[in-house]
Amino acid sequence: MFRDKSWQFETVDKLLEAQKVNRTSIGIVTPREITNIEATDRPEEDARSFEEKFEELKKTVEAQRAQIQMFEDAIPPEMKRLEFLKSRVMVSWLCKAKDCSGHRMQVLDWGLCELQRRDGSAAAVNRMKELCKLDTYDLKFFLGTSSNIRPAS
Ligand SMILES: [Zn+2]
Repeated sequence: MFRDKSWQFETVDKLLEAQKVNRTSIGIVTPREITNIEATDRPEEDARSFEEKFEELKKTVEAQRAQIQMFEDAIPPEMKRLEFLKSRVMVSWLCKAKDCSGHRMQVLDWGLCELQRRDGSAAAVNRMKELCKLDTYDLKFFLGTSSNIRPAS
């Protein structure tokens, strides 16, 4: 699906625009620059389970069932244990929009979350920093909602 042009968006704004027009809710954006990576404690209101949020996502984009199925298929069932993590790795980055003011999103990557669970937040942040070396990797972000991403390289 990462080769499919209809999934690729030049900027986050274009993805948001597509959301409005045809209710496309998910897509792939290539970051221009990574500005920060850190682990932050989850706020209390964020205590709802990943599953619950995912149900909401599905409701809001009912029209795009096939896409949602693909998104769901791309998430291992173990991802649903994310609620065990007290903090999340956050990535701040710029998309290719000339006037991009930056995006800050939490990383929902199964391997990274597993590493965080096992070795702690600092290890997960270091791993993400490694993955975010744009001169080494052809990094793409798979944006599920406006507030979370998965590396899709
Ligand atoms: Zn942007």
